[in-house]
Formats: sequence, structure tokens, C-alpha cells
Amino acid sequence: MKTYNQFINGRYVEPASGRWLDSIDPYRGQAWARIPQGCAKDVDAAAAAANAAMKSGPWATMTATQRGKLMFKLADLIALNSDRLAEIEVRDNGKLLAEMRGQVAYLPEWWRYFGGLADKIEGAVMPLDKPDMMGFTRHEPVGVVAALTAWNSPLLFVAWKCAAAIAAGCAVIVKPSEFASVSTLEFAALTKEAGFPDGVFNVVTGLGQEAGSALVDHPGVAKVTFTGSDVTGAKIYAQAARSMKRVSLELGGKSPNIVFDDCDLDKAASGVISGIFAATGQTCIAGSRLLVQNSIREAFTEKVAALGRSARKGNPMDADTNIGPVTTAAQYKKVLDYIDIAKAEGARCILGGGPATGPTLTGGQFVEPTIFVDVKPDMRIAREEVFGPVLSIIGFEDEADAIRIGNDTIYGLAAGVWTRDMGRALRVSAAIKAGTVWVNTYRAVSYMMPFGGMKHSGIGRESGLESIRQFLETKSVWLSYADNAPLNPFVLR
Ligand code: NAD
Repeated sequence: MKTYNQFINGRYVEPASGRWLDSIDPYRGQAWARIPQGCAKDVDAAAAAANAAMKSGPWATMTATQRGKLMFKLADLIALNSDRLAEIEVRDNGKLLAEMRGQVAYLPEWWRYFGGLADKIEGAVMPLDKPDMMGFTRHEPVGVVAALTAWNSPLLFVAWKCAAAIAAGCAVIVKPSEFASVSTLEFAALTKEAGFPDGVFNVVTGLGQEAGSALVDHPGVAKVTFTGSDVTGAKIYAQAARSMKRVSLELGGKSPNIVFDDCDLDKAASGVISGIFAATGQTCIAGSRLLVQNSIREAFTEKVAALGRSARKGNPMDADTNIGPVTTAAQYKKVLDYIDIAKAEGARCILGGGPATGPTLTGGQFVEPTIFVDVKPDMRIAREEVFGPVLSIIGFEDEADAIRIGNDTIYGLAAGVWTRDMGRALRVSAAIKAGTVWVNTYRAVSYMMPFGGMKHSGIGRESGLESIRQFLETKSVWLSYADNAPLNPFVLR
């Protein structure tokens, strides 16, 4: 079992606490690596290194084009190491290797896209209403960025946050989830190999309330970018306000997958299943509410249930496994508790509905893919994020009804719309309050497309051109070129 150290100022260092935490393989239910239990002292060291990198030395004087070239190099190194990194993520979070291989192999695109953007951050000469004056804007790096990430896709979140932050010229400190830190610690070595100066990329691991909270409080951090639950996000938002830090939040969801009776039903059924059972339901964009038009409700429910029934549970490393374990013991209990709550509320379980057992599932925390019908929009199972393989099916009459139920949630991360009527697709896409709407598809993401939530699903967008803005401050510079107009000292001009 390998023992890891934190990555601060370009080298791996032991935690100041002298303590390590076990990282558990959720399939085997056993520790497979040890990660440092970082504390406020480690955060101090990382913040000092990151601030020093931004103030002096090669990072501070490097041109944006040179920054971009380092990012291209890093992209190549990620590509070379992608299978290894994907396997590490599977050891830590139990997601399917088939999915993680694809996901990690796709990450270089974020680094290339934002590497290319680094030298295209343009200020502007501004039109002004004042005579003999000119003004221009500069977009400057916001400062040191703390990136707090969730356990379900650690390196994807590093790419979403850090590629944009580093392209903007910031130095970053990543605090990955204590449940899945190893891939981020391994990734740090690639930043060194790519040639990033010391202090530009740092990793402090450990508990949220300890290392994470110390980062949010730290005066040497200018911006916090967070991916995780809305409960933690709200805490961080309030805590960061005390030191007026910039904050962006990528939080949870209760996304509706809306199926109209005119759609391609087979395609929609596959989309619905991948929306809720892929990654064992542990994705923020899980389409956990299936809204299906009443005219096809029974037939479509049976189609979805048949597909769900065919899912093979097992070792996430095996190519023919469809459903892996739930990542953490706490999450496993939470999912089973929600299943009990749904039953007690009167929802009818037509698939699964409890722990999954079997000869190949001995060590892991497996939950049967579960489907509830007769779900009422006011039940907890229809309102709260389960973050597990549990689908709630709700019927609707018409477009207006679908929109009303779809929006009847505090969340606004994503939605799916399944219809052949493009007028309806566009009307519903406009009416649904969510950061992403997929029409006749689900779960697609790209480095080119902004991603983020409305309402309780978050603040800000990652990916796409606009996302770099969250790591920049705009400065307005005024110049007077009048040579014979003395300034009135007492009147603002
Ligand atoms: P979490 O909120 O428990 O933890 C996320 C990160 O915050 C971890 O690194 C954790 O250590 C840290 N943290 C916890 N408490 C903290 C505190 N008080 N101060 C500072 N840091 C703290 O979330 P999780 O269980 O790791 O992830 C699951 C959640 O993430 C789900 O709600 C899911 O919907 C959400 N999520 C959102 C997105 C998105 O892009 N919108 C993507 C994936 C996951």
C-alpha cells in the first residue's frame, strides 16, 4: 500500500500533522493507499508558495504564450498517462473503468483549449464620453485560487477549474476529496514534468473541515472554486464572504428527464438509463426525475425497467460491468435511507429497492438499480438529491405540466427533453430553469460548452470561453491627454 505526500512548491512533502488517512477501494472495501491529513500549516505553506509564484520568479514574468505552451506539454503528458490515472480513479471511487478511461483520455482537450486561450485574453480600448481622455481595460489574474473538488470525477474537476485558472495566470491549490485524492496527487508530478514553475500547482489533501476550511479562510487565497454538495457549498459561500473572496460553486441537482410521447422511445429509454444508472447515479447531473407523458407512461416505464433489470453489477475494472459500488460508506447508507423514505412516503418500487448482494459483490457497497413509480412531486424522493442509482417516475399531461413539474425544485443544474417536435424542444429548453438542457441526448459535456447551475445548483460556469472570466479581474485605466485643462481639485470630473 503506497503512502502519498502532499505537493507543495514543486515537491512532495509530508503533512505537518504527521498523520495520514486511508483511501478505501469501494469495490473491495479495503484501504489501498494512504493520503496525507493536511492541516492549516500545510495550507499556509501552499498559500505562501502560490503567492510567491505569482509575485516573482518565472511564472510572474512568463508570457501568456509560454504559459499556454506549458499547458500543451501537460496535455500530452496526461494523454500518455491516461490509462494509469483512470485506473487510480476507479480504485478510489469505484466508477466504471470503461467510463473513466474515456473521461481521463478526454482531459487533455481542456488543457489544450485553455492553453490556446491563454494569449487571447484581451483588454479593450474603451469608447468614452469625456473629452481628451482615453481608457482601456486590463484583465489580470484574480490571485491564488483554491480548488475544492468532489470524489466522483477528481481529475475532470481539476481540468475544469485549473486549466482556466492557470491560463488566466493564477497559481492554484487543489484540495481533492478525502475519499479520492490519489489521482490528483499523481497528477501533480505531471505538472512538474511539464515544466510548471514551483508553486504554480499545489495539492493539499485531508478533511474538508480541516484543510478545506483553512483554505477558504486563508488571507493568501483570492478565489475559491468548489465542486460538491449544496450544503457544503452554502457553508463555503458564507465563510468566504467574511474575507470577500470570489466564489464559484458547482453543486448538486435533481434533474428532470422529460419524455414526450412523440420521441424515439428506445433512444429516450437509453438516455434515461444512462442518466441515472451510469456512475451508479453518483453524478451531479443524474436525471433522477423521469417525467413521462401520461399517454405513454406505462409502456415507457416497462421499457426503462427492462433495461435497468439487464444491468450487470460487479467489479468496476471489468469491461462487462454496468454498475459498480457506491463510493463511500456514508453515501451507501444515505442511498438506502432514501429508498426506505420513498417506500414510507407511498412511492411504489418496481425495480431493486435495497442492497445488492452476490458472489462478486462481497467487499463493496452495492445498491440495486432502483425505480419508483407513483411518485408525487412533493415527496422527498422527488425533491432531494440521492446521489445513487434511484429513479423516480412522475407522469405529466402536457407541455405546460412538464415545465411546471420540471421547475418545481430548488435545483437547476440540468434537464433532458425527448421529443421529435423541435418547436417544443426549443420552448421547453427556454422554459426550464437549468444551466444545461440536453435535447434527445443526455450527459454530454465538452471543454467548449459552459457548464454550471442555476438556483441551488451553483454560481458561475466552467468550460467554454466565458469561464476564464471567473479567474480574472478587470482593471480600468484612465489617461488624460489634455495639456491645457487643469483639474478642478474639488469637483469630480
Ligand atoms: P462535499 O460537499 O461533501 O465535498 C466536496 C469537497 O469539499 C471535498 O473536497 C470536501 O473535503 C470539501 N469540504 C467538505 N466540507 C468542507 C468545509 N467545511 N470547508 C471546505 N471544504 C469542505 O461533496 P462530495 O460528497 O465530495 O460530492 C458529492 C456532491 O457534489 C453532490 O452533491 C454532487 O451533486 C456534487 N457535484 C457537483 C458537480 C457539479 O459540477 N455541479 C459535479 C460533481 C459533484
